[in-house]
Amino acid sequence: MAGSGKLLPICIICEQVPQDGIVGGVVVNGNFICAKCEDELLSITTDDVKYRLFQEKLKKIWL
Ligand SMILES: [Zn+2]
Repeated sequence: MAGSGKLLPICIICEQVPQDGIVGGVVVNGNFICAKCEDELLSITTDDVKYRLFQEKLKKIWL
């Protein structure tokens, strides 16, 4: 079943397209987050330098 209109989502955090397409991550409120970023999000702490960056990106989802 090759080339059957596979969706190519772009991660809102790293702005990359995962190789696996839509199955390579999660969709939250219509915004795609790749598995890699999802993993990072789950393990990040509030004093991590990346935390603010993630917070900024995630505003797009929650607003
Ligand atoms: Zn990502």
